[in-house]
Amino acid sequence: MKLSDMALGIRPSSTLSISAEANRRKAEGIDIINFSAGEPDFNTPENIKQAAIRAINNNFTKYTPYEGIYELRTAVAEELKTDGLEYAPEDIVISNGSKHALKNALSAIIDPGDKVIVPAPYWNSYIDIINMVYGVPEVVQTRKQNLFKVTAAQLESTYDPKVKAVIINSPNNPTGMVYSEAELKEIAAFAVEKDIFVISDEIYKRLIYSRHLKHTSIASLGEEIKKRTIVIDGLSKSYSMTGWRVGYTASDRKIADVIANIQSNSTSNINSIAQAAALEALRGDKSEVTAMLKEFQHRRDFIAQRISDIPLLSSILPKGAFYMFVDVSKLLGATVRGTLLKDSRDVANVLLDSYGVAVVPSDAFGVDNYIRISYATSMRDIVEGTNRIEKFVKQNY
Ligand code: PMP
Ligand code: GLU
Repeated sequence: MKLSDMALGIRPSSTLSISAEANRRKAEGIDIINFSAGEPDFNTPENIKQAAIRAINNNFTKYTPYEGIYELRTAVAEELKTDGLEYAPEDIVISNGSKHALKNALSAIIDPGDKVIVPAPYWNSYIDIINMVYGVPEVVQTRKQNLFKVTAAQLESTYDPKVKAVIINSPNNPTGMVYSEAELKEIAAFAVEKDIFVISDEIYKRLIYSRHLKHTSIASLGEEIKKRTIVIDGLSKSYSMTGWRVGYTASDRKIADVIANIQSNSTSNINSIAQAAALEALRGDKSEVTAMLKEFQHRRDFIAQRISDIPLLSSILPKGAFYMFVDVSKLLGATVRGTLLKDSRDVANVLLDSYGVAVVPSDAFGVDNYIRISYATSMRDIVEGTNRIEKFVKQNY
């Protein structure tokens, strides 16, 4: 009765587990501020919910084409045009969230033993998804002075002939950094020269806060890079639709066809009602979505100021997504409430157990000495949570 080595090697998603633990404590009546999950606190916009209700009432409740309804794939293709990307509806496959889109994409290109370069800090699930398709993650440590962005030179020195793909995530989870067009051009040149794929996770593309920065999709930088890139996106973050599970891949037709075949034999179509809702999200009124973006910006400005006011903590101002990546190295080595704080995990544990603040320690993202604070939570919680973090530092240092 032996389970597979692959399955036994998969860890539970750290972001989801820490958040589940925070919610479990909350349900027990413990006062917890949950800064762990990257999940917008807003309700899904009203027009999107109404579209779903209409879908149920109109009995739009049967199997749909497994790659998603054509209208939705068309709406996605239209939306991608705003990023300078020319895709046909046939190049789009609608999946159960972008996590599933990533799994589909990697399944389509990875043979056992193929390497995938993952710049760290990385979003935790990349590693396990690569392992699930029998690939080998090849982690590259980025540099803080380079704003945690991987350079083409670093990719070059990591490359060997087993490398099949590189994952680029901009805006980035957990750092909030955004790659410029010039940086992406160099990475694109590297990928084209080595003839490898790029998985471009753009799920936070609408959440950019600086007027001087714009989102660039690496796939928009020429035909050669476009055909090697699989764009990953989804509606969870910008439309506050985490529970609906809508994501997609956009890619060369040959890759899209393979992904569709995989999906036809695994999940089939995503929930039909969620597809109707997604269509409204993309085509309908965007006023609630615009208001959410404004609020995230306000929260980012507030939390960045609060963190910079707290002694011993430091962070680079995030330009996008909704995370602060906070350097806690100056807190290490102290003993707090009887525990020696050796690493960011110890810091996260003491924050949760003694101060009721849930954050994600950075070992989840492949680096030491940071904690990730999600500000996709209410202003009230941000005020209270940062007060508690300040209290923790001031009481113990
Ligand atoms: N990519 C990144 C970088 C993320 O932070 C997340 C977390 N939600 C996902 C993909 C997956 O999101 P979803 O499956 O909800 O679309
Ligand atoms: N991606 C979000 C995060 O990083 C949600 C949790 C998850 O999907 O892992 O917190």
